[in-house]
Amino acid sequence: MDADTSCESPPLLVVISGPSGVGKDSVIDELKKKNRPRHFTVSATTRSPRAGETDGVDYIFLDTETFLEMRNSGQLLESAEYSGRWYGVPRSQVSEALKQGKDVFLKIEVQGAGTIRALAPEAVLIFLAPASFEELAVRLGQRRTEGPEEAARRLEIARQELAQVGRYDYCVVNRDGRLEEAVADIEAIIIAEKCRVAPRRVKLD
Ligand code: 5GP
Repeated sequence: MDADTSCESPPLLVVISGPSGVGKDSVIDELKKKNRPRHFTVSATTRSPRAGETDGVDYIFLDTETFLEMRNSGQLLESAEYSGRWYGVPRSQVSEALKQGKDVFLKIEVQGAGTIRALAPEAVLIFLAPASFEELAVRLGQRRTEGPEEAARRLEIARQELAQVGRYDYCVVNRDGRLEEAVADIEAIIIAEKCRVAPRRVKLD
């Protein structure tokens, strides 16, 4: 190998997206356990905390006025309205972690993934999909976090989100009871991306 050729890869910006109820949180929890130089962004939202959620850990919970102030002053890398609530990724978290050489993981819905693609074409976009729409419907129906009306609204949004898979780089299926396979697939994608001869270099400004 040429003396000045380096196989060091720059940090990745990884988007984990997909419909509500598909298991993004469970996948992210497993990716966190790997103890690698990674940052998992904590989004801002205007939705109310669920039982067991902690401000600053699960989300930064804000009132709408504060959220929109952050958004209008450019403090959010992307933001989207989902089921009547705002969600957005604080820009500073992403740029600081990338500067420190950490791979950054965003857990966002489909509109947000589209925004990131436009802002940072070098981001790695992974769509987490259910094995079937029916499996997703059962999972959303069984969740205790939403009432039946909200679950039905999320399922309707999911139908539209599933149609957007073609805009992603990768599709990983999270089958019922087989979380470890989905996590292994994502780790394999990260490894392959890090071994690219022409690495993706994310520029955000
Ligand atoms: P939940 O209310 O279930 O926590 O989140 C609703 C949806 O918003 C999920 O698909 C979740 O991944 C997505 N989401 C969470 N944070 C963000 C964010 O910062 N930006 C965008 N665009 N979506 C987000």
